[in-house]
Amino acid sequence: MLGFLLPLKCLGCGAHIPGSGRAEASDPLCLDCTLALRPLPWPRCPRCDLPRGTGPDRPVLCGRCNDWPPVLSRAVAAVALAPPADALVQALKYGGWDVAAAPMGRRMVHRLRRMPEVDFSAPRCAVVPVPTTPARVRTRGYNQAERLARIVARELGSPLIEALARRPSGPSQVALQAEERKANVQMAFGPGPAASRVAHYPQLILVDDVLTTGSTAGAAASALAGLGAKSVIFVVFARTLPRPVAIPVAGSSSTFHP
Ligand SMILES: [Zn+2]
Ligand SMILES: [Zn+2]
Repeated sequence: MLGFLLPLKCLGCGAHIPGSGRAEASDPLCLDCTLALRPLPWPRCPRCDLPRGTGPDRPVLCGRCNDWPPVLSRAVAAVALAPPADALVQALKYGGWDVAAAPMGRRMVHRLRRMPEVDFSAPRCAVVPVPTTPARVRTRGYNQAERLARIVARELGSPLIEALARRPSGPSQVALQAEERKANVQMAFGPGPAASRVAHYPQLILVDDVLTTGSTAGAAASALAGLGAKSVIFVVFARTLPRPVAIPVAGSSSTFHP
């Protein structure tokens, strides 16, 4: 009942959102936070969307996505992982606020639709969430990537298929060296309950909340290739940026130097 009486609190800044009274019907972001969500700065790597700092404004691969499997043709992010996007990610992942999935997922679809060369129509395209471990689903109550994937699938009009499953985690990633981490994540994905449907779709959209190093994207796409995937586009809500970084404000040309 209280959800109908109290104005919604913004997930970005905590301020009450004027005029909101129905949590399930409202966008849980105030206008200021909505306007503060920033796309990634240009120019970007044409394969993985990594901002290229002050480099040439032409299609140049960044080099960091070289070791991705060929099946992973593109990775795109709706926004940069900077305030208030990080608050949304935290709210969805750790705060139990799965209401955050809707505004995040809609922005991911908006980013996907800015690739006119890709056919997202239903017979060709299916949406695959990056799975998390059963232990994390038990703790959190849901998989945040699956919640985002549901929104993406609904907005695109495409089926959601649980093509991958996460194997129980080995040693904590934090304690591992970079090469060990990579090997660990390569081992992390196996076939999920809908694995047999992968080969039916020429285009798969692989969904996660955040892109950091890209090793999860590469490993999950490799697992999909092993199941017969032909082309995978990885889409996330937010992407971390190399440091030092300055997100350009409107009308400014300031950039970062990777
Ligand atoms: Zn706000
Ligand atoms: Zn790249």
